[in-house]
Amino acid sequence: MANTKRVALVTGGMGGLGEAICIKLAAMGDTVVTTYSPANQKAKDWLGAMAERGFHFHAYPCDVVEWDSCRACIAAITADLGPVDVLVNNAGITRDMTFRKMDKINWDAVMHTNLDSCFNMTKQVCDGMVDRGWGRVINISSVNGQKGAFGQTNYSAAKAGMHGFTKALALEVARKGVTVNTISPGYIGTSMVTAIPKEVLDTKIIPQIPMGRLGKPEEVAGLVAYLASEEAAFLTGANIAINGGQHMH
Ligand code: NDP
Repeated sequence: MANTKRVALVTGGMGGLGEAICIKLAAMGDTVVTTYSPANQKAKDWLGAMAERGFHFHAYPCDVVEWDSCRACIAAITADLGPVDVLVNNAGITRDMTFRKMDKINWDAVMHTNLDSCFNMTKQVCDGMVDRGWGRVINISSVNGQKGAFGQTNYSAAKAGMHGFTKALALEVARKGVTVNTISPGYIGTSMVTAIPKEVLDTKIIPQIPMGRLGKPEEVAGLVAYLASEEAAFLTGANIAINGGQHMH
């Protein structure tokens, strides 16, 4: 893939982390594609704002929970731009509540959006990567998948599941030039985290982070770019923590 422009697809690329990942992959010279939820009314505004900053991203509607939606999305991208070389499974949600209060709806929503989505999207592109002898799959998990978190049985289970998926698939495609890795960010300053009440952030979360601050989306994006690069060809099946020292294992 050395001299070819790659097609990089970031699910949920219009979110806080996803946007930084799209910008970084574009800076590496990739053709960058993002998905957005079919219900997202702000997709055009986002594309326009990015274009004003000099980033010409491609965007396709996709509900990562729905198999048929993922299939149609990848078929359209492949027809318009060519096959996907780099897939970043980044779309995700939280629905926090203690297990006592957790109902089936909020369990399922988090499992489907964070974990089933990895199957739904990766399945569409993996055979092509194997056939072409080159590919990168990068799954955005979470520190809370590694250590567990109060009020997040659903999210911790889904995010831990993502890394199980990473390890098994990495084994299956290792000889085919395709790497599969997990990134587990700690608390990053996106709306997912800034939605947490300030008092909880200041008294419960920041004090757990030895660096004493939230991470920056650009710091995670830099790690994605590295895993997507040629230099990372020997790195597969890993779960890379990026959390300001909050959790070491
Ligand atoms: P955001 O809420 O800003 O972005 C989440 C993205 O996921 C949105 O772009 C959203 O798209 C997309 N999405 C949600 N549901 C669906 C769906 N059904 N189909 C398609 N897209 C969907 O969160 P972040 O940027 O903070 O998080 C990105 C990833 O990083 C998530 O997987 C999250 O779990 C993980 N993470 C985040 C951390 C943090 O501190 N922020 C820490 C550790 C992990 P749309 O807006 O179009 O609906």
